[in-house]
Amino acid sequence: MIEPIEHAADILSKAQSVVALTGAGISVESGIPPFRGKGGLWEKIDPMKVAHIDAFLENPETVWKVLIKEMKHVLDKARPNPGHTGLADLERLGILKTVITQNVDGLHQMAGNSDVIEFHGNFAWQRCLDCNRSIETSRVDLGQMPPRCGCGGILRPDCIFFGEMIPHQALIRSQQVSADCDVMLVIGTSAVVQPAATMPFIAKDNGAVIIEINPEATPLTPHISTLPLLGAAGSIMPRLMKAIRRRLASA
Ligand code: NAD
Ligand code: ZN
Repeated sequence: MIEPIEHAADILSKAQSVVALTGAGISVESGIPPFRGKGGLWEKIDPMKVAHIDAFLENPETVWKVLIKEMKHVLDKARPNPGHTGLADLERLGILKTVITQNVDGLHQMAGNSDVIEFHGNFAWQRCLDCNRSIETSRVDLGQMPPRCGCGGILRPDCIFFGEMIPHQALIRSQQVSADCDVMLVIGTSAVVQPAATMPFIAKDNGAVIIEINPEATPLTPHISTLPLLGAAGSIMPRLMKAIRRRLASA
């Protein structure tokens, strides 16, 4: 039997239009904890108490102290890992077209991917609740809680909380590229957060092959994934890229 990574490399090296769907798992090896699963943030805090828009609007000071300040601290230091750089290399080879990410950490862009759909927004910016002006997260003064805009309004991250709508353009484009791809690489997502989790279904319904990289099985693994590759993105991606380069060199 052909080894799964070699099989995936075969499929990817012949593909016309590849899309990746990524989740928090791809950034774990960059030091960012995921929400669910082992070591996930939700083992420590209740998402509905801190990550819901109603919780933020009712008590922005607590949400800033418990969640946003901590996220800023972790994201400030995070750098792309071999999972991210593998996807950037796949784009440079002309194989990968678009990354749909649920992450808000900006690491795909930092790694060099040029077409990244940010399904849940980006943490790099904060927005004023009153005047809507944006300010870079790195320039926010954490000396006052909650941090405020020059106009006195409270700042909020430019990514979505639970209970908020997905940015319309991101949703429409994600559905389009998912329907049009011939291979979807699903990396590091528990595939339970909707509507991001519907993208592999859309791709599969339109005839795409689904290659899933995750150290644990997900709801996609038994029926939707054509080829599950069990393992961490940071170790699978370099092996996959090596196998693809070998094929391209001998073609
Ligand atoms: P999730 O937290 O629900 O699940 C993480 C998944 O990654 C799990 O299936 C886990 O088995 C897998 N995983 C763990 N380590 C991995 C590794 N080294 N390589 C590959 N996979 C690995 O993540 P989700 O599905 O993205 O949903 C959580 C939501 O939380 C997202 O919508 C996202 O917006 C947000 N979030 C973002 C970040 C970030 O920006 N880095 C971090 C935490 C949460
Ligand atoms: Zn303002």
